[in-house]
Amino acid sequence: MPFLLLTNDDGIDAPGLLALKQALEKIMPVRVMAPDRNWSVAGHAKTLHRPLRVRPTRLADGSAAYKCDGAPSDCVALALLGFFDERPRMVISGINSNANVGSDITYSGTVAAAMEAALDGVPAIAVSLDAQEQAQHYATAGEYAARLAQRLLQLRLPSDTLLNVNVPDVALEEIRGVAITRGGKRIYYDQLITRQDPYGHPYYWIGGERPGGDHELEGTDIWALAHHLVSITPVHMDMTNYALINELEQTLGDLARR
Ligand code: MN
Repeated sequence: MPFLLLTNDDGIDAPGLLALKQALEKIMPVRVMAPDRNWSVAGHAKTLHRPLRVRPTRLADGSAAYKCDGAPSDCVALALLGFFDERPRMVISGINSNANVGSDITYSGTVAAAMEAALDGVPAIAVSLDAQEQAQHYATAGEYAARLAQRLLQLRLPSDTLLNVNVPDVALEEIRGVAITRGGKRIYYDQLITRQDPYGHPYYWIGGERPGGDHELEGTDIWALAHHLVSITPVHMDMTNYALINELEQTLGDLARR
């Protein structure tokens, strides 16, 4: 029987995964496989150097799920390579508790799970909630994830393409609409914290205030969220800068000559 595969990077116990499952099971049977711990900001990992363990578990509403000791992208790879009796019809990852906009998508485990599916030709959606403090309106994101998944069952996305969806953390009736967007400009405030461990050795911690972004740049994901619009960005796996190919041929094409 066709099914949707649901996963996330916040871990199997995250409230966003439960909300996603409760929203998506209304449109098609779902199967849930998610990491047994938080893999946020772990990017697109593939576990090759150790075995992967998968254990049956239950979500907070008692429904069956699997937890895996690998990354979100490993969960998707398992499903695509035959863990279940058939391949998922679509992969939906989330609902992440914070936005994944602009260059966040290169760090995001949520988006990486969708990338793993897109690379293998399976329709994929990454869903994140733009929570400032504690995420509240998972139901809003769940509703839009379900509406979009329903439509995507009819549509055909180009190959190597996923949809990166970010939803304002507001009640459903406060959403002003949907914007098809491009990635915006994220601004990170990372700092390097250097401290000493109890044995006198230095350790380092990268951290700082939550990232900001350019809210003015119309048509971007960051702009959409600032205007209470659900942002849908089509993301292609090809990161080539095509505009630069000709120029680099001119300036670097003679590298072979000494
Ligand atoms: Mn996360």
